[in-house]
Amino acid sequence: MSREPLIFEISAATKKGFALPQLDVPEKKDALAGLPVRAAMPGFPQVSEVEVVRHFTRLSQANFCIDTSFYPLGSCTMKYNPKINERIAALPDFQGSHPYAPQDLIQGNLEVLKTLEDCLTEITGMDAITLQPSAGAHGELVGMMLIRACLEDRGDPRQIVLIPDSAHGTNPSSAHTCGYRVREVKSNSNGTIDLDALSREMTGEAAALMVTNPNTLGVFEWDILKICEIVHAKGGLVYMDGANMNALVGKFRPGDMGIDVIHLNLHKTFSTPHGGGGPGSGPVGVKKHLEPFLPVPIVERGAAGYRLDFSRPKSIGRVRSFYGNFLVMLKALAYIHSLGAAGLKEVAEIAVLNSNYIRKSLEGVYHLKYASPTLHECVFSDKLQKERGILNIDIAKRLIDYGIHPPTMSFPLIVPGALMIEPTETESRRDLDQFIEAMKAIAREAVETPEVLKSAPHVAPVRRLDETAAARNPVLRWEGPKE
Ligand SMILES: *Cc1c(COP(=O)(O)O)cnc(C)c1O
Repeated sequence: MSREPLIFEISAATKKGFALPQLDVPEKKDALAGLPVRAAMPGFPQVSEVEVVRHFTRLSQANFCIDTSFYPLGSCTMKYNPKINERIAALPDFQGSHPYAPQDLIQGNLEVLKTLEDCLTEITGMDAITLQPSAGAHGELVGMMLIRACLEDRGDPRQIVLIPDSAHGTNPSSAHTCGYRVREVKSNSNGTIDLDALSREMTGEAAALMVTNPNTLGVFEWDILKICEIVHAKGGLVYMDGANMNALVGKFRPGDMGIDVIHLNLHKTFSTPHGGGGPGSGPVGVKKHLEPFLPVPIVERGAAGYRLDFSRPKSIGRVRSFYGNFLVMLKALAYIHSLGAAGLKEVAEIAVLNSNYIRKSLEGVYHLKYASPTLHECVFSDKLQKERGILNIDIAKRLIDYGIHPPTMSFPLIVPGALMIEPTETESRRDLDQFIEAMKAIAREAVETPEVLKSAPHVAPVRRLDETAAARNPVLRWEGPKE
């Protein structure tokens, strides 16, 4: 594929994208009097309609997307989402509803919010939920704010949050953003929380434990009951990062196990595609003792219909404008209703089956630091290939040549040279087998033709890029062609 020129490079003063007919009425300049009207648009590209269409269509084809191929990016749940949910979110009555509309005109919207809250409290086993946060990390921050508000209300504010070394990277930054100091808890040789280490660290200074479950190794924290006991016994609260709930939905209710606060990622588990920067939604579920602190407004269901309750004296206040990303919530509700309870359970079963199928098929071909059975994702490393100078990045880049998106790399930090693979529940056996064959072929290439891996990708629009140059030296202005 040749390099797509910038739109400025195909621009020429003689080209036009459209032509308006001659005015057949007098021009009324005074209607625009006082407005800043441009006579010309300097630097604006001039191209024909077909050039615009082809330029952007070609650019769109240079992107990798879930509608064309397998996207095993670990911890991201890059799954295929049914188009029906997009259709429902695009219904004009929903799309056109205005956030300032009076409450009696948006009863249907409020019903969507309340019904989704009901579904998510049922799924998580929590007592109440806020749909406001815009993303997973935002949900974590809100969860930390709720924990802080609750402990301050008890007259026992604390300074530290415990986070296992297998947690998602956003956990420590959310705790830190909320003003807590972070203390790390070590994992044991199974990749789960070491209970002795937890007991040692869980002192009266610790406000909470943030536990990613399943953790970033894809391993379920089997000792979750004991973990909650240890934290609660010292007056702390347990926060669960539930971004990867597709591994658990219908099978395990965090609220039944002693979790006090949880966030979900609707844009992972519940049918909103993500990766382009939003919109997302990170609802936060809580147990009764944290409910008074939830953000306002709260949707109440009463005899006279739905209404928004703003009068909650202990609330941490609003955490974003209006009610959150409404259409993302609508998609989640459509997804939940279309699958039903049995279907949701199958989501978790197939997510776990697919991941274990990959883990078993590639065991021995790639190194597995932790051999524990996994849930929705598995973490290999480049240890075997490294002996021949092949690193995880070479393997990841070569996968592009096989038409597959690279997995998450070098994370979690407790696995050096990690390749973190999350197939998700939407992949067919055939697609999984193709991935496994590609990974096996790459392992053979690492032995026979390592130079092919070192120079991969070969078929992508660009070769290997400097991964930090764009951030360190951003070029944001077109200065004309370079001589
Ligand atoms: C994706 C993810 C997050 C962060 O969610 P964002 O919506 O990207 O902020 C947090 N924790 C885990 C385990 C995740 O997989």
